[in-house]
Amino acid sequence: MTVKPNLIGGEWREGSSAIESINPSDTRESIGHYALADAAQMREAVVAARAAQPAWSATTTQVRSDLLLKTSIELAVRKEEIGELVSREAGKTRAEGIGEVLRASQIFQFFAGEAVRYGGENLPSVRPNINVQISRDPVGVVALITPWNFPIAIAAWKLAPALAFGNTAVLKPSEETPGVAWELFRVLERNGLPAGVANLVNGRGADAGEALVEGVDALSFTGSVRTGRGLAQSAIANMVRVQLEMGGKNPLVVLDDADLGVAVESALNGSFFSAGQRCTASSRLIVTAAIHDRFVDALRKRMRSLKIGHALTAGTDIGPLINQRQLDTVQGYLQTGRDEGAELVEGGQLLQAGTPGFFMQPALMTETSNSMRINREEVFGPFATVIRAADYDEALALADDTEYGLSAGICTTSHKYASHFRQHVKSGLAMINLPTAGLDYHVPFGGTKASSYGQREQGTYAVDFYTNSKTAYVGY
Ligand code: ADP
Repeated sequence: MTVKPNLIGGEWREGSSAIESINPSDTRESIGHYALADAAQMREAVVAARAAQPAWSATTTQVRSDLLLKTSIELAVRKEEIGELVSREAGKTRAEGIGEVLRASQIFQFFAGEAVRYGGENLPSVRPNINVQISRDPVGVVALITPWNFPIAIAAWKLAPALAFGNTAVLKPSEETPGVAWELFRVLERNGLPAGVANLVNGRGADAGEALVEGVDALSFTGSVRTGRGLAQSAIANMVRVQLEMGGKNPLVVLDDADLGVAVESALNGSFFSAGQRCTASSRLIVTAAIHDRFVDALRKRMRSLKIGHALTAGTDIGPLINQRQLDTVQGYLQTGRDEGAELVEGGQLLQAGTPGFFMQPALMTETSNSMRINREEVFGPFATVIRAADYDEALALADDTEYGLSAGICTTSHKYASHFRQHVKSGLAMINLPTAGLDYHVPFGGTKASSYGQREQGTYAVDFYTNSKTAYVGY
């Protein structure tokens, strides 16, 4: 049995134990065995990153840009092969797997440009004969903790800006997707990654908690609210800058005047594609009275046309859930919904798709109220509810009545309501006549309330988290 090692200080290192990654579409298929770094090895990775940081931040921006651009090119060239690995390990359809690798490539390309483009400001002082120069220094060593649902894109949107702006990094990927992270590091290494500049520590979350918070200057995390909150406490205790992207309970409002086709396709995509395992997935469909029944009927009809199965089978629309635990959680919420008085009107059943995998038919519950647990807690699966609203005002109030604030959508043909919603909804992303999920890479991403904490990720805004500004006063 070959165990694929971790990359620490430029050396591929065995771990004290290993984990087997399996294909959620077919649990008989092993993706590979991966070394698990324990807490001591994670600390070594932080030390290696610390040692490499001065030289890395002293390189020319061209050197940093070249590494990112070459990485981008290799990812683009190998998008089908690596995309297939993403599909096998994370259960995404082939198109989604390839699309995600292409997205990672675009992110590296974008930050290859930002590495040479970012700068500061020059202002006259309010006092005579003084000039003020504002520049940006790297933060230093950053710990990056990532989830399994976008195993290469999220790693890319943290690693690329970290390296572009002169930081060194330690990446701790999810235990569910060590293979994709390992492949990404092979690509980085082949394209000139200097020793210690980016370190890979596949390992358990519990081991990462202290090891990756102590000794770093900043921590960027994407994952569950519970883990994020715990990490934030330790980060603040250690005076470590922290950025968290966590859950959502994203509403999609459908008004009476909506284009029914647009509303149904937005709900179908937002709620069920990627098996609902996106933090931006629409989970609460808030529908006004006159369109309610037509919308539910049309959505049910479209749900019945979806093909659920092995992620790599041609024609599959939706693959499996990531593991048995997640499948059990979603099934548990279906029962909770029934107990709370909701009606399961479509799907929900477990599926035999020809291979042993974690498949379920996307589920829709109606006659729900916003106070039910199924409308308060993040489910993270192919599961959506319908909540009736009397009118736009009530729909907006329901949309905001949640502890989360990541993405919120509205389907309407009214400019007045679309514009009001965009300005007033309390979320980081507002989607008009579009699914709540589906983002670009050159613009900021993040939420409000319990969904996010700290500066925004992605696009030109990423520089704020990964640098410190320095204000110099120059007398003349
Ligand atoms: P999910 O349920 O989506 O996997 P988690 O928050 O459990 O969300 O996991 C997201 C990432 O956080 C993973 O890389 C996981 O290993 C890591 N993680 C989990 N628990 C901890 C912890 N106590 N400290 C640091 N990282 C953790």
